[in-house]
Amino acid sequence: MKLKLATAILLLGALILATCESASNDKLEEDLQQSKGLDEKEDNYLLPGLDHGLLQSPINILSEEATTGGHAITLNFTGEVDRVQNLGHTVQLDLDPGNTISMNGKTFEFKQMHFHTPSEHLIDGITYPMEMHVVTTLKDQPKSEITEYLVLAFLVRMGKENKFISNFIDQIPKEEGGNNEIDLNALTDSDSSNAAKLLKELNAYYHYKGSLTTPPYTESVNWYVMKKISEASPEQILRINNIEGDNARHIQAR
Ligand SMILES: [Zn+2]
Repeated sequence: MKLKLATAILLLGALILATCESASNDKLEEDLQQSKGLDEKEDNYLLPGLDHGLLQSPINILSEEATTGGHAITLNFTGEVDRVQNLGHTVQLDLDPGNTISMNGKTFEFKQMHFHTPSEHLIDGITYPMEMHVVTTLKDQPKSEITEYLVLAFLVRMGKENKFISNFIDQIPKEEGGNNEIDLNALTDSDSSNAAKLLKELNAYYHYKGSLTTPPYTESVNWYVMKKISEASPEQILRINNIEGDNARHIQAR
């Protein structure tokens, strides 16, 4: 398990050490202002009573509007996935908080990863059948402050079986609220031969400041949406969608 997960995390690390592309908020805003008038139903997705600001997520990322930014990021991942949960609204893997990621001098702790079907973020107007979020929070943050998040987002299209997902998909509890320890002995490092190739492919992402996409929609999220689209088999995506339903938030006006 350690080897297997280390491979997955190596891939994450490669992304993070690579050049960062920062979506231009001004241009995104311009574009979204234009499209807002076309869709009067937009307001239907805002819940009353919540303080919606200007940093809501997800968004439609315009690849041509992205500009290059510079973020000094390092990754320190030594732990394991502990268990897989069926939360009803999503499938979630719990991560050991002892593992960290650093960005611009701030250290974030790994919390969990989960799935959305279909994708929440769009790239150039395209929705993908699935999106995976790796959620981390700022380490040692005073409780009086709003929690700061760093979320890695992986868009997934239909294609080849995803070996990372196949490692736990049979252990997702059938009943909502259930959780299973992941069988560490069942995992191997068979993906390692592909790791070098993937390291090169997974080397860029879009970055913007946004919000959680579930209540309370807190606007303190550093989003990193990978440019490389991952793959999973139609069966894998369907199985996860059958468990969690359609759980993607609509893109938000800015
Ligand atoms: Zn999410």
